[in-house]
Amino acid sequence: MMMIKLGGSALTIKDAKSPTIDEVNLERIADELTSYNQDMIIVHGAGSFGHIYARDYEIGSEVKDVNDHLRKIEGMCITQTSVHRLNYMVCRKLQQKGIPAVAIKPSSFIITENKRIAVCDTTVIKNYLENGFVPVLYGDAVLDYNDAIKFAILSGDQIITYLAEELNADKVILASDVDGIYTDNPKTNPDAQLIEEVTKDTQLNLTSKNSHADVTGGMEGKINELLELADKGITSQIINGEVEGNIKAAVSGSKVKGTIIK
Ligand code: ADP
Repeated sequence: MMMIKLGGSALTIKDAKSPTIDEVNLERIADELTSYNQDMIIVHGAGSFGHIYARDYEIGSEVKDVNDHLRKIEGMCITQTSVHRLNYMVCRKLQQKGIPAVAIKPSSFIITENKRIAVCDTTVIKNYLENGFVPVLYGDAVLDYNDAIKFAILSGDQIITYLAEELNADKVILASDVDGIYTDNPKTNPDAQLIEEVTKDTQLNLTSKNSHADVTGGMEGKINELLELADKGITSQIINGEVEGNIKAAVSGSKVKGTIIK
């Protein structure tokens, strides 16, 4: 079973003022995904469909008082509807290309505790896979057991890490808008060098701020998730989903330029 994460940065215009899909990228990525040749789960990021509201309503930060609680409840509803809308557009596009994409809403069955997944029953996902479907999950706003925050933003990166281990994925691919992990942010530092292999001993400079809004930790959050996965024996690869042909090569088993995390 393979898992592929489609970065919010590749699917949406991440620094847009309102939720904006990247139609051209979505069309091409959906086309490329049709080359998959084994069981597949897709997880996509939220991009501008999630981060704008999550930041506005400060989902995941401490609930200050009753009014803040009510405001955050409103924010949860709005964020969930927005990312669900992106998921609908992704699934519809995949279906148009002939991929049996079935939407799985993370906030309907996942609860976090201190922002880490605590409750997640994968029975339904397993059953869909066994029946030949391609489950499609996404970054979402979820309930959190920590009473001080009550709600959290669950990144697509955390979902992929959790499910890869739980469902024993043999291939984990993350398609982002850069070629992989660099010695520094390649969007702001032209001298940054691509690192082909990262382990927990690799010294990384991830202090540079992301070029666009991201409430889930950007590249740093992603690497921490993937190092945790590597620790459990599952290797993953970050590739550039904006380079034509990369996703097609990756899902059909060919070698692609990128960073391997092991
Ligand atoms: P996605 O939306 O694909 O999940 P993110 O937007 O969260 O990805 O993270 C990718 C971004 O991280 C890149 O666009 C890049 O600007 C930024 N970044 C910061 N530091 C680095 C680094 N050392 N190597 C690669 N990318 C980095």
